[in-house]
Amino acid sequence: MDTEDALQAPAAEPLPLLDELGLGRVLVVVAHPDDAEYGTSAAVAHWTSRGIEVGYLLLTAGEAGMQRPPEEAGPLRTREQRAACDAVGVERLTILDFPDGVLEYGLPLRRAIAREIRAFRPDAVVCGSGQLEVAWGFDHADHRAAGLAAIDAARDADNRWVFPELLHDEDLAPWGVQRLLLTGARATHCVPVDEAAERRAVASLSAHEAYLADLPWHPAPEELVTGVLAEQGRLAGLPRAVAFAEHRLRG
Ligand SMILES: [Zn+2]
Repeated sequence: MDTEDALQAPAAEPLPLLDELGLGRVLVVVAHPDDAEYGTSAAVAHWTSRGIEVGYLLLTAGEAGMQRPPEEAGPLRTREQRAACDAVGVERLTILDFPDGVLEYGLPLRRAIAREIRAFRPDAVVCGSGQLEVAWGFDHADHRAAGLAAIDAARDADNRWVFPELLHDEDLAPWGVQRLLLTGARATHCVPVDEAAERRAVASLSAHEAYLADLPWHPAPEELVTGVLAEQGRLAGLPRAVAFAEHRLRG
C-alpha cells in the first residue's frame, strides 16, 4: 500500500483517538506561514480549547511565496501568520530567518529547532514526515527539509552532548520530547474535531488573505479545510478529524 492509499483509503479498523493524557504543551514545526493551516490547525484549536498550550515554530518567513518582492512578502506573511495563530489560540509564534525556497537540511536547522524545543519544552512535536511522496503528491523541498530536521532535532534536544553550546552559552538544558506527531505519513491516530474547531481552522487559513489572493487556483479555505477534515475523519469513523502518525520517543 503506498502513502496515498494509506492516507485516503478507509481503514479496515477505525483509527484510535490520540491519547491526550500527558499532553501539556505541543510544538508545531513547519517551513512556511500557512503550512499548519491545512488541517493541523483544527487539531490545534481542539487542543487549545482543552487547555493544552501550543507553540508554532516557522523556519522561514515565506518571503519567496508571493508575486511581490521578498522584502514586502516576508513582513506581510508574518502578520498574516500572527492572525492565523490568533484564530486557533496560539500565542507563542517564532519565525526564523532561514531562506524560503532553498531551506537546507543540516546542522544549523537542527540546532535552531533543538533550541526552540529546549526553550518551550513541549511534550509532543508536530512536523512533516520528511518523505518525498505524500498524499497530495511530491512534497516541497522546504517541507521535506523541515520535517526531517524536526524529527532529528527532537532527539538532539534530549542529548546534552549534541549542540553543547545551547546549554553552555544559552542555559538551555536538555529536554525529552515524548512523542512525534507526523503529518503526511501513514496515519496511526486521529484527533477529533468539533464544528467550533473546524470553524477556527477555516479562519486560520482565511487569515492568509493576501497570500491566497496571489494563488487564483487555490480552493476556498472553507471548502479545502472541511474536505481535509472530513476525509481524515473517515479514517476514524468520525465526521471530522485530523490524522497523525504517532511515534513515541520515550516510554
Ligand atoms: Zn509550505
